[in-house]
Amino acid sequence: MNEFSPRSLPRLTLREWDGPLTDELLRVPGPFGLGQLPAKQQPTSVTSSVCGYCSTGCNLKIHHRDGLPVNLTADADYPVNLGMACPKGWEALTPLAGPQRATTPLLDGAPISWETAANTFCSRMKAIIAEHGPESVAFVSTGQICTEEMAFLGAFAKFGMGIIHGDGNTRQCMATAVTAYKQSFGFDAPPYTYADLEESDVLVFIGANPCIAHPIMWQRVLKNRRDPDIVVIDPRFTETAQAATWHIPVATKGDLALLYGVAHVLLREDWVDHSFVEAHTSGFDDFSRPSSRTSRQSRLKMPRGFQRRTLSDWPSSSVVASASRSGGRWE
Ligand code: SF4
Repeated sequence: MNEFSPRSLPRLTLREWDGPLTDELLRVPGPFGLGQLPAKQQPTSVTSSVCGYCSTGCNLKIHHRDGLPVNLTADADYPVNLGMACPKGWEALTPLAGPQRATTPLLDGAPISWETAANTFCSRMKAIIAEHGPESVAFVSTGQICTEEMAFLGAFAKFGMGIIHGDGNTRQCMATAVTAYKQSFGFDAPPYTYADLEESDVLVFIGANPCIAHPIMWQRVLKNRRDPDIVVIDPRFTETAQAATWHIPVATKGDLALLYGVAHVLLREDWVDHSFVEAHTSGFDDFSRPSSRTSRQSRLKMPRGFQRRTLSDWPSSSVVASASRSGGRWE
């Protein structure tokens, strides 16, 4: 074994000669109310954009310099993200510098101008429509383009091209949820706001992992100062489940059985706000009839690790009445 000697240590670099100089790192007050910004990234204009990475809808301010985006900040005045963005949002400009990003239109593999590309696209599409009729073509848009682009696409396709069929994947993938919202709440959107995440005594997440998938939404849960009970119904032991008061690891598709079971207990114990039901719902008598409850439950597979006794034990403190914590995990 070699004797230890200071000379055997790797040579330390005590000086760097190619790092940024201090004046390059200087921060100065930025324009447009943006606060302190690096001196060399002072924007000449700012536009707003919605982050397209997840459906939370955080608003970002894009800083432009000489017509090119150079930086971004999260919008402090926007009610969704309140000045926050997750690592995905902060990287929203990174793809613009991607080496494989398509920046030039190609025709048969050869670069062409945007004007030629637009004319070629229009003339060829219109030729198809002229020959086969307006129903022969359709477009499908994407949730990854923002509202203004979506509106432009619709106007361009319908009024410019005469295309009569168009749809968005946002409507395709939300079709079942929107139908359920309309049937349940009479309106095609969730009947709550993100601010409720900060105010509620009980939060129930079914099959959702906002810790990872929607970090800004989860951030708003963490801002809740009411020490809420967090119930996570999910077969997976997700990061959100790990942070929950209870994790209920139902089997896949077991959520419906669980929810019918909860409804059964609410009805059996008469933990029902009858005046609310009377004023705002329809079909309650059918739903609550014992025979239809039994038949619904018997058709459904009970969740893994789930016993009828467990359902009766669902603490009323958290689900129905007060917000006192009962702790424990439902397993
Ligand atoms: S949570 Fe993150 S990925 Fe989702 S919209 Fe906000 S910044 Fe974008």
